[in-house]
Amino acid sequence: MRRKLAAGNWKMNGTAASLRELNALKSLLPADAPDVVICPPAPLLFRACEAARETGISIGAQDCHMQESGAFTGDISAAMIADTGATYVIVGHSERREAHEERDRDVRKKAQTAWNAGLTAIICIGETLEDHEANNTLDIIAGQLAGSLPGDMTATNTVIAYEPIWAIGTGKVPTLEQIVEVHDFIRSKLAVRYGTDVADMIPLLYGGSVKPDNAATIFRAENVDGALVGGASLKAADFAPIIRALAQS
Ligand code: PEP
Repeated sequence: MRRKLAAGNWKMNGTAASLRELNALKSLLPADAPDVVICPPAPLLFRACEAARETGISIGAQDCHMQESGAFTGDISAAMIADTGATYVIVGHSERREAHEERDRDVRKKAQTAWNAGLTAIICIGETLEDHEANNTLDIIAGQLAGSLPGDMTATNTVIAYEPIWAIGTGKVPTLEQIVEVHDFIRSKLAVRYGTDVADMIPLLYGGSVKPDNAATIFRAENVDGALVGGASLKAADFAPIIRALAQS
């Protein structure tokens, strides 16, 4: 059985006061809740780990530097993230790829650095609207998988999030058929490169405008094991129904 995971990406939102959402979320979750990780902004990581201690919720960062340490002013290393008590890090989010010009090979190095620090990497991939409309989605995804995933990936150190860029923060969501097609494709590509034992166990998340009212439909896709959620993860009252839908899927 593959594990299910609901990951919340707070992006550049929230202050220490927002951490009360962790306890609120815990109180709204069913006993059989899947794994939940919240990725707050980096300055909140320490306090988030403290606040999450009795909740069963894991904490993750939104990015790490590809180098272990050094003269990189303003950047954060994977070891620093692990030192806060966090256990996950998102790498290759489209907003990082776009605004910080991160390439597949940077993402691959970040994942490797994350593993070296003992973190689970949530590696993001996804096509632009232009590529979607030109029917290039599967080619783009194949290229990003080949370029962004290290060769020694295992089923326990990685989660893959498919996030069509045109669906992030827009309220637009692919059809269930499109979500099924891409996730099935990702799983089959992983099987070819890493073998079925690894491919069958890696959690695949869908991300892009997941909300309480569309989550259950998205989770019907056999190869969708959870979601990476931006806006709807900021408030426990919005994130909890998504997690409950995942538990029931
Ligand atoms: C994201 O930031 O990864 C994301 C999916 O955002 P949203 O849920 O707001 O579309």
